Amino acid sequence: MAAQSNTGHGGRRWHVLLFPLPYQGHINPMLHLAGLLHARGFAITVFHTHNNAPDPARHPDYRFVPVPDGMSGPAPVAILDVVAHIIAMGRACEAAFRDCLAAFLEEYSRDAVACLVADTHLLPVFEVATTLRVPTLSLRTGSAACCSCFLAYPMLFEKDYLPVQESQRDMPVIELPPYRVRDLVAVAEDHGGLERELIARAVAAMKLSSGVILNTFDALERRELERLRRDLAMPVFDIGPLHKFSPAGDSSRLLRQDRTCLDWLDAWPPESVLYVSFGSLACVSARDLAETAWGIAGSGVPFLWVVRPGLVRGSSADPDPDDHHHLLEGFEAATRGRGMVVAWAPQEEVLRHRSVGGFWTHAGWNSTAESVCEGVPMLCRPCFGDQMGNARYVEHLWRVGFEVGGGLEKGSVEAAVRRLMTDRDGAEMRARAGELKKAAAEYTRKGGSSCLAIDKLVAHMISLSDHYFV
Ligand code: UDP
Repeated sequence: MAAQSNTGHGGRRWHVLLFPLPYQGHINPMLHLAGLLHARGFAITVFHTHNNAPDPARHPDYRFVPVPDGMSGPAPVAILDVVAHIIAMGRACEAAFRDCLAAFLEEYSRDAVACLVADTHLLPVFEVATTLRVPTLSLRTGSAACCSCFLAYPMLFEKDYLPVQESQRDMPVIELPPYRVRDLVAVAEDHGGLERELIARAVAAMKLSSGVILNTFDALERRELERLRRDLAMPVFDIGPLHKFSPAGDSSRLLRQDRTCLDWLDAWPPESVLYVSFGSLACVSARDLAETAWGIAGSGVPFLWVVRPGLVRGSSADPDPDDHHHLLEGFEAATRGRGMVVAWAPQEEVLRHRSVGGFWTHAGWNSTAESVCEGVPMLCRPCFGDQMGNARYVEHLWRVGFEVGGGLEKGSVEAAVRRLMTDRDGAEMRARAGELKKAAAEYTRKGGSSCLAIDKLVAHMISLSDHYFV
């Protein structure tokens, strides 16, 4: 995209300030957004916590402002610890962020600051910016359907869909089709209301902001976007798929990518390789890992598998390049010549590779969107949060994959892999995914719907600052 010049009052360049939530699936879309705004002529400043800090050397055109978060210890792995960590981190960096933002406004004349875009899960950042009279936009890194679901939580409790009762898991949520109770972001009272608090805070942040940015696009979620616009009554910018607007280098890498897998993929015929990855947070039991491994081995399908440090529940999350070789006794010998295991892959490039024909995924929203946009059908094994809802859309609405639920057994894994990779059923899913790939290409082309939404976003950002600083 050609760089355009966006100049503020007195001919100065407009600044956009960004504050991502420091998790891989949240940093990536924020940095892709930075890339596209930079291409539109904005100066970019990224505020960030020490925890999972981005590498400034990889983005020499941006300014980075570290915000002390006062958090210590290793990054959490269990999902409830992650939820508690997100809430605690927001609170812990509130005072420091106030000082950093005030200093920034002091240094740069505030009339050159268009707005601050923060992750929806950082409510204190929105509160601080509002106090300092900096307009905010919120980046919600999940789907529009999930965002609507967040807004609907009071209703879901009122109508007894939540907390989830075991006997009602398959009941349809008639107000939010095609979700069933089991597809909702699970809220269990015995978790001390933590997830409920997280969701309520995200909704509060969106309502405090002057608009919501979503990494989705009309062809995927037209009905959901309409509902969201009606429910939020504020501008909603569906500018996804974000990774299609900025090069893969714009995302962040908390782990070192093993790029040798791209050469390895070159040797295989088109659409023959199964790519397996569970994202940056999901964990599996040692038993599930073994059943998955032997099922994949038994299918005879070539595979590229990301076994990141800490993937197996209870194992160390410390990057040890040799760790994954010891995880599966005998597996390497059994699959020699047709499998590759890496600790972290250049996923966007892997999914784009012509040899990749299917994706075994945890159905995180970024992975789902990246797969759909490359026409790769999915076998979903969702773990927590919005992943069950994403898998529901993959299987039921877009019909570009299916969920593998329940206890994993070698035999059922083998059958599922064959269904995706070699059966007619899988070929039909691949064909439908191909249609979505075409739509994504069309929407991100000049004049396409996502491109027009970016134009509107840019105009909105500039108008926000006029509104605030007259
Ligand atoms: N990812 C990657 N290499 C890997 C695995 C994942 O670059 O080996 C990236 C992937 O492209 C995606 C992000 O990590 O952008 C994961 O985000 P997602 O929302 O799918 O899942 P999360 O990690 O948040 O659960």
